[in-house]
Amino acid sequence: MPNLRPYQQEAVDAVLRHFRRSIEPAVVVLPTGAGKSLVIAELARLAKGRVLVLAHVKELVEQNHAKYALADMHAGIYSAGLERKDRGAKVVFGSVQSVARADAAFFDGFSLVVIDECHRVSTDGETQYLSVVARLREQNPSIRILGLTATPYRLGLGWIYRRHLPRRLVRTDEERFFGPCVYELSLQSLIRQGFLTPPVLIDAPVVSYDFSRLERRHGAPFALADVERSLSDQSRVTPGIVANIVSIAQERQGVMIFAASVRHAREVLTHLPPGTSALVTGETGADERDEVVRRFKARELKYLVNVSVLTTGFDAPHVDLIALLRPTESVSLFQQIVGRGLRLSPGKTDCLVLDYTGQGHDLFRPEIDEDKPADGAVPVVVACPDCGHENDFWGVVEFGELVEHFGRRCRGLLVDGSEGPSRPCGFRFRFKLCGACGAENDTSARSCERCRAALVDDDRTLRDAMALKDAHVMRVDSMALVESLDRKGNPRLEVRYFDADGQALKEWFFLRSTSDRLAFRHSFLRLHLRRPERVPEVSTPADAVALQPRLRTPAFVVARKRERFWQVREKVFR
Ligand SMILES: [Zn+2]
Ligand SMILES: [Zn+2]
Repeated sequence: MPNLRPYQQEAVDAVLRHFRRSIEPAVVVLPTGAGKSLVIAELARLAKGRVLVLAHVKELVEQNHAKYALADMHAGIYSAGLERKDRGAKVVFGSVQSVARADAAFFDGFSLVVIDECHRVSTDGETQYLSVVARLREQNPSIRILGLTATPYRLGLGWIYRRHLPRRLVRTDEERFFGPCVYELSLQSLIRQGFLTPPVLIDAPVVSYDFSRLERRHGAPFALADVERSLSDQSRVTPGIVANIVSIAQERQGVMIFAASVRHAREVLTHLPPGTSALVTGETGADERDEVVRRFKARELKYLVNVSVLTTGFDAPHVDLIALLRPTESVSLFQQIVGRGLRLSPGKTDCLVLDYTGQGHDLFRPEIDEDKPADGAVPVVVACPDCGHENDFWGVVEFGELVEHFGRRCRGLLVDGSEGPSRPCGFRFRFKLCGACGAENDTSARSCERCRAALVDDDRTLRDAMALKDAHVMRVDSMALVESLDRKGNPRLEVRYFDADGQALKEWFFLRSTSDRLAFRHSFLRLHLRRPERVPEVSTPADAVALQPRLRTPAFVVARKRERFWQVREKVFR
């Protein structure tokens, strides 16, 4: 067994620590090139029972097995594609398709299953991974499940796990197959430690495609037909792009070009130097493909054009130029592609990444969380008033000061002791109160988390109000706070809402007693403060008027007729 690198040992330790006290499926995030096979090998060596290592393609099964065997350890393979169905070995590397079809006896005696490329495990619907896991659990209800991936998120789903233990962070409140991420090594730190070649990203060199008009369907890849159409509209651009690649590649060893479709790849190939260029697509036969890959690795070929077939499991360390000519809808795909060029190789000092798609993915800081809520919103840090966790939210910064943010719930994770159980802080910056029980709910919740009562959503409020004769729904253009006096001469705060035609609705607040102030805080400040975690002291109408820059204006105000007056009843913020 070769020595583990320090971070590999840390990953192993973190996994053991977690599985000693929990059977919740966990994730380890290691970038491509971090040597996850050694982590798998060490875990397999330490496991008391049998270990099953699952992958979704036979190339990956073969690669993981080969690296394990390099460590001078024996393991079996269970994969129809590799024509091997070893049973009984302590460690078995299997393809999920074959294992899903295995008989009951196969599943006997496993204590750990490792799922490679685990961002593919889906919780919705019947998938092969879930059925394999179900059969393993039948045999051993406390089987430990570990997922490995370089990209712990999936298009349309977001983060594939719920909690990040080392960073004490809640990623999502939604259901996920994997609970905690117990260890993560970033791509930067792997490059910094000298285990990977630094990428040099060159955005839109000279000429580039324009894919900005491609329709982004939530949770789905771009439609091939749309991409084809977009490319044929821009076919004049391709020769210039290829010429640019060739001129930049003069001093380069190995060039991988990622094309969008078979037709596109063929076109690219016609502009490359003949004799040193080749093409691999999904239609290329296995023998021909192996031969092309062999010649490329032997550097008989300099340019290798491919269509999404060489993204995972392909390893040619000398690659020092990656050219992206295909739109990448997900950051993880982008990272996988660039990862092809980051292996260390003698004489290689960096890897150029030429992005001709104009999409500008960030290799190091993927934006996985909610879409930007408003134009001009920027990433901001907001400390939780309850636990102090520094939340990364979208926010609005004016003159260097954070004036508003769109965070709804603290993402801090509270851990008892150094290894105790963890629970989310859960502080809500913004919430919707349940009318039935008073519980705080997420602003988008349909029913109360505590009592299950139905919660009315904003659109429904507006629709219902518009159907009423004695209701007035105003689209608010501006809001003003002023001091005024009631008929008896008592000072009060007057809040005026105006629509675009200058029509006004008003509401009043007295601030004399403690209960007045509490009511103001509850029914006005809680909703209007741009930073709801910072509640100011307000004891006079003048105090409230001075707050105006720190308040947000509602998008709609709903008023109901009460005798001769309109009374503000609901406010809807966007
Ligand atoms: Zn908190
Ligand atoms: Zn409730």
